[in-house]
Parts: sequence; structure tokens; C-alpha cells
Amino acid sequence: MNASSTPEKEKNPGTFDLNALIRENIKKLKPYQSARDEFTGDVDEAIFLDANEQPAALNGLPEGINRYPKFAQDILKERLAAVRGVSPGQVFLGNGSDEAIDLIMRCFARPGADSIMVFPPTFGMYAVSARINDLGIISVPLDSDFMINEEAVFRAMDPSCRIIFFCNPNNPTANTQDREVMIRIMENFRGIVVVDEAYIDFCPEESLLPDLEKHPNLVVLQTFSKAWGLAGARVGVAFASPEIISILNKARAPYNLGGPACQLAVKALNNYAECRISIRQTIAARNKLSKALQTMPMVERVYPSNANFLLVKTSDANAVYNHLSDHGVVVRNRTTEPGCLGCLRVTVGTEDENEQLLEGWKKIGKPGGDSEGEAAGKPARKTTAAPPSDPAHAVSLPSRTATVRRQTAETDITIRLGLDGSGRANIVTGLGFFDHMLQQIARHGLFDLDIEATGDLHIDAHHTVEDTAITLGQAFRKALGNKKGIERYGFELPMDDSRAKVLIDFGGRSFFKWKVKFNSDHTGELPTSLYPHFFRSFSEAAACNLHIRAKGGDDHHKIEAAFKAFAKALRMAVTRNPAGILPSTKETL
Ligand SMILES: *Cc1c(COP(=O)(O)O)cnc(C)c1O
Repeated sequence: MNASSTPEKEKNPGTFDLNALIRENIKKLKPYQSARDEFTGDVDEAIFLDANEQPAALNGLPEGINRYPKFAQDILKERLAAVRGVSPGQVFLGNGSDEAIDLIMRCFARPGADSIMVFPPTFGMYAVSARINDLGIISVPLDSDFMINEEAVFRAMDPSCRIIFFCNPNNPTANTQDREVMIRIMENFRGIVVVDEAYIDFCPEESLLPDLEKHPNLVVLQTFSKAWGLAGARVGVAFASPEIISILNKARAPYNLGGPACQLAVKALNNYAECRISIRQTIAARNKLSKALQTMPMVERVYPSNANFLLVKTSDANAVYNHLSDHGVVVRNRTTEPGCLGCLRVTVGTEDENEQLLEGWKKIGKPGGDSEGEAAGKPARKTTAAPPSDPAHAVSLPSRTATVRRQTAETDITIRLGLDGSGRANIVTGLGFFDHMLQQIARHGLFDLDIEATGDLHIDAHHTVEDTAITLGQAFRKALGNKKGIERYGFELPMDDSRAKVLIDFGGRSFFKWKVKFNSDHTGELPTSLYPHFFRSFSEAAACNLHIRAKGGDDHHKIEAAFKAFAKALRMAVTRNPAGILPSTKETL
């Protein structure tokens, strides 16, 4: 049923009629009903002897796990709807997006008669699900820039076509489609249009969710498997009109999602700040990895990416794939996909994992996998991740990172700290001048620092500054772990015209000394009295000894010099000695 006739009719499809799309058997279906659905009395008072469950959970298992999960989906739908700005009635939850993909086909396309449209190279599950459901597959290949050819879509359009699958950003090509093109096709098609946004959180372009109201045939798929870090829980989401959602709900298995999976997804949503930080970190790591891969042997091109993976064109995908595999690195070989000759798909990992990938890749073509000398005519390259001041990096110690979230009645602060970073900062506290000072810590200490703080700034800056300091101190303490192999002490001598001096000792006890006089009571929006408060709170939370002195004319310069010196002192103190010994004559620090 490929690419045949009747495009004219499809170009003027009239209004979308959902009822005409629903398969007869689904229309007639009376969904499964449990006794609990029928019960209208007081749920808290009733005893439930209707579902053949065990009356109690086994020891050590979560309370309530012996019962079928009646409300878990409702709670998750409500949280998710609030986060995404839709109503709970527009949300379907599936056992991964895979379930939603399958169910959409089962509800709207007749086996043996209807077909779907896909744009290869794309996510393989659309075709697999179509084959399981005995549907035809209309393939309209992407062009050489991996873009949809709009004319070809209408040429290939066929009355059997019931569902179109856009993957945006697309897997495996990592690019996004033109929004206008997708909408034009949507408006000129009588069937269901699915836009799979599994990678939308990594993408600068907007989701199509706000278009749901305007387009009754639109279904937007998202998932907790990628940016939210819950691939193991299996939670996928379809957003659509309440009419489409109610059909999917009617046809799904009654308890298609486990209670724990729903609860984990709610927990992830409640940690949205950490999720955003982690997405930014992945994007930064992706951009760095992309540059590095361009210099690797056999690489012809690294395609631009709006996702958390990179498509890499090589001169021989199988050779690179096998070589990496021999070095214990598994990537995805996509060379047999249409338009992907020579291509590998590489997921962005942690900084350490990406380093390992590059280390392995560099050894291509070198006899015995020796990393010294020249390969493929390119000079040997140095590892780029290590700050030159840290010789311990040369022996590839694992990166030290910590994520801390601290919530109080007044503030909610999430910090991710990488001690062995490159000075990358993303700081949002709502206090511009404070952000600027915190950036000094990252930049001059070569830390990677992500901070998201929300606080009672409508009252004043006090709680936000103090609680950020405490959370930052806790992050340092956590990232330092058992402190094995650190220098422990840091100091910095006079800097520029402003002369700031900071002494630090991560000895495990807090002590704070402050000798800074300000000429006025504010710098920017911040009262200068908050600075000693900031550093004292840090010293208490990080359990460190901290002495700060600064002199100079201009308050702004003086405090900036203090933050810079603080950063330098921190860097010295957390730097690792290659011997890895604990810098204390006692057993612990
Ligand atoms: C990973 C991925 C999904 C996610 O599938 P789940 O079943 O939710 O884990 C969906 N669509 C695309 C394009 C993907 O790459």
C-alpha cells in the first residue's frame, strides 16, 4: 500500500472526525470494571475482599503493595499535568511510551487494512508495533539533512493511512523538524498525528503540547525514561484531547503501571530542579564530546544534536564499533539504517565515561592499542578534561561530585557540584549580584557548579543567601567524601588592588574569622552584612576552618576579590595528591 494515488482527496480532508477513526470493536468495548470502581461508600472504612489480594504485604516490602494500585496513576497524572500545564484528563500513562505507541495503533488502525506513516531513519518501535498489529508501513525517507520532505508526504499519502509518527527530536539523527511543516501536515490529515518528544527536554525548541487545544488529532508522547532518569521504572506518557485519552484508557490493561513506578515518577517530578540541572550538565557534556569526537580517527562528521546522544559518521562503522566494543564501550551501530551509512549513535555519559570512550576511540589503528605516538596521521592528543593544577588527573581518578537538595519553610535549594570540573557554572538564585559572586567560585576554583534556589526574596535576601551557603557547604563535604588524598589546606595571598586573603582547612571542624570592612551597606541588591553570614554558614556546613581578610577602596572589588580568593583556596584544598594519602596523623578528617 505504499505511495499510491488519491493525494487530492487527502489534501482537502474536511474536519477531523475522531469517531470515524475509532475501530468498531473498541467503540463497542465495555471496559473491564472492578468491584472497587463500583463501590461508592467510604473507602477508608470498607474492607476489601473483592480482588483476591493478600490482606497484608510481606515483611520488608512497601506498605500497600499487596493491593492493586488504584490511585497511583491519578496522583501522578495530577502532578504531571501541573508541571506540563495541561489538565489531568489530557494525560494517558503507559508502561513506557512503547505501550502508548501500540495502543494508539490498536485503537485507531485496523489490522490487515490500515497503515501508518513513518520518516526513516527513525525510532524502530513504530514499525515493530505496526508489524505486530498487522498494519502497513508508508515510509517517507528524510532528506540528506534528515528533514521531512513535505511534498513527498502528500504524494505518499494514501487513504489507508491512519497514523503519522513524527519523532522530534528524532532518534537516531538527533535533529528537530520544522514546526510549521509538522503543523501543516497535521492540519491536512484526517488521521492521528503522533509527535514523539522523548528527547524534548534536551532541545532548545518548544514542545508541541501548547498546540493540543488547537489540534484535536494531535498526540504528544513523552517519557520518564530519558531526561527524568527512570528508564528502569517504565513510565511513558501520551498527551492528547480528553476524547482520545478516554479511548486509550478504555483499551489499556486496568493496572498497566505498577504503584512503585508511579511513585518514583512523582518523586522525579518533585525534584524538577535537579532534573533541569542534570539536563544542562548533559547538554554541556554533549557539546564537549561532540567537539572531541570530531578529532578522533575515522570520524567524518558529528551531526548537530538536540538530544542526549550524538550521531557520528565514520569511514567504517563496523570497524569502530568492534574496536570500541573490544575496549568495553558499547555504542549503537546504525550503519544499516537508511541514510546512515557509517553512522554510530553515541549516548552522552558521565564526564568519566565520555573520557573513557575517547580514550578507546583514540587507540584506533594503533598497534597493540598503545596510546603513545601517532595514529592515522594525527598527532597524539592530550586528555583535555583535567585542570592542569591537578596532577592526580593524570592517573584518571574518578570525578568527585555531589548533589544536595535542602528544603526549608523559606527556601528550596538544589546544588550539583563537580570538584574536578572545568569552571562551568549555571546559577539561578534570583539575586543577580549573588549569582555573580557564586560564579566566581566556579570559575576561579575550576568547579562545575549548578545552583537552583527559590526563596522568600519578597521578604529579603537573607534566607536565600544563608541557605545557599549551607547547601554549598554540604555539597563540598559530601563531594570530598572520606577526604583521602586531598591537600586539605588552602591559602591565597594578596590579589590585585583589593588584596583578599583566604585561608582554609578541611580538617573537619568549623571555625570562622572575618576581617572585611565595607564602606556602604549594600553591593548591588545585597546587604554587605550578608557576606560574613554566607561564609560562616559555609564553614559550618562544610566543617572547615575559614579565615577571610580583604582590604581595598571599592566594595564591589573587595567582595569579588574575596570570592575569587575563596575559590582559589578551595581549589588548592580539594586538589588530590597522587599518593592518595589522608592528610592527617589521625585516622579520620
Ligand atoms: C527512548 C525512546 C522512547 C522511550 O520509550 P519508553 O518505552 O518510554 O522507554 C520513545 N521514543 C523514542 C524516539 C525513544 O528514543
